[in-house]
Amino acid sequence: MVTGNDTTGDAVDGVKDGRTGDDERAARRDEAVRATVEQGLLGPDSPIVGLLDVTGIRESAAELRAAFDAVTAPGTPVLHAFAVKATPLVPVLRLLHETGIGAEVASPGELALARAAGLPPDRTVLDSPAKTPTELRQALALGIAVNADNPQELDRLDALMRSAPSRSPLGIRVNPQVGAGAIEALSTATTTSKFGVALRDEGAREWAVRAYLERPWLTRLHAHTGSQGVPLSLMARGVAETYELAEEINHRIGRRQIDTIDIGGGLPVNFTSDATTPTYAQYARLLSEAVPGLFDGRYGLVTEFGRSLLAKHGTVLARVEYTKSAGGRPVAVTHAGVQVATRTVYAPGAWPLRIAAYNAKGRPKTGAEVVQDVAGPACFAGDLLAEARALPPLEQGDLVAALDTGAYYFAHHYAYNSLARPGVYGFAPDGSGGVAFATVREPQSLDAIVAESGGAHASALTTLPVPGHR
Ligand SMILES: *Cc1c(COP(=O)(O)O)cnc(C)c1O
Repeated sequence: MVTGNDTTGDAVDGVKDGRTGDDERAARRDEAVRATVEQGLLGPDSPIVGLLDVTGIRESAAELRAAFDAVTAPGTPVLHAFAVKATPLVPVLRLLHETGIGAEVASPGELALARAAGLPPDRTVLDSPAKTPTELRQALALGIAVNADNPQELDRLDALMRSAPSRSPLGIRVNPQVGAGAIEALSTATTTSKFGVALRDEGAREWAVRAYLERPWLTRLHAHTGSQGVPLSLMARGVAETYELAEEINHRIGRRQIDTIDIGGGLPVNFTSDATTPTYAQYARLLSEAVPGLFDGRYGLVTEFGRSLLAKHGTVLARVEYTKSAGGRPVAVTHAGVQVATRTVYAPGAWPLRIAAYNAKGRPKTGAEVVQDVAGPACFAGDLLAEARALPPLEQGDLVAALDTGAYYFAHHYAYNSLARPGVYGFAPDGSGGVAFATVREPQSLDAIVAESGGAHASALTTLPVPGHR
């Protein structure tokens, strides 16, 4: 376990009895793995589960709120809207809502999840790049905040605002074009990114100023410049440029028309150890130094963190079905592969995951490490959770855990080979030395797989006319 790079010294992740919050999270995970076996959630006929550490999620939510409270002027309205795409599970959204966290949604499905979780419209922000007229009309009717992605979408908002008044706070998403991070597919602020109004393009800045001048109801400005792989300094530059544009617009209009800045999410996550780094406190402090005017109380704030709130609180746990050897390399064939770790399997260089080995009783495995492959159940050669990884020798019936998978992993099922979506369970200490579980999502049944795969339309294609036959 690595604890050395926790450099923040903050009370929220401080040391208790010589253990950091990160140590405690790792210990809770080990206890939950054992309890998963003892309580029968994992077994020969349910060989894979997703686990969520509810205590850890609560702690991260509290750390996020405390980090921004520490740098904002008293009384500043701050909405932390969890990016639903990171973990689109209704009970997770409800838990976050109860800890004071709202929801950022980017599709009709995500909005439906947020509403099912009980998120009120004033705690919800809609941001997708491809909103239909119906979606926009419904969002405005509900009073949900909307950030327009482009001039054509703004035209649609114009028409809707003419036809009916709305309580929705409305804004425009800009792309400050500050550059890419280490993962191209996740870099939202490149010159040619598909998101928002590209601010450095010719005429774009002037267009944005005019857009606000002509629409007194445009009161927000939005940018989301980071994600995994983007350095904090670059994220801070994106926020600084967005703030400067808001200042310029308000100055040109002669009043504080933009009253809220949405700085997006994107805090990167450490996938190499149990250490939480960077922390929300570090990022909030960096922003307050780089863009002090944003925190002096003149602007309300919206944030949209996703991965950093959930990633470290999720674990995929799967049984080793078989072990074998190929070309001299040991291979453990498990039930966790591309269906739950799609990015890792297809882009292992960008998305390596830590793997922990447990024995059949759910106790951490020890013993001299051996270089081995950890394979998934799907029928293609590249379905590897980890390649050439040094781990204690895995045996049939052991368990492997893919760590830090609470965001963009088991909640993002990929239906290759019609593999079933695993059950997802939240856990917390039960107060008497054990672990309590709650079902977040049932394992997908075979009937559900058939129904999703056109089961109700079995003869649909054979009843179409056949050319040349009558
Ligand atoms: C994906 C996304 C987020 C969340 O990003 P994370 O890297 O998960 O924090 C926030 N805002 C918008 C607009 C997004 O597209």
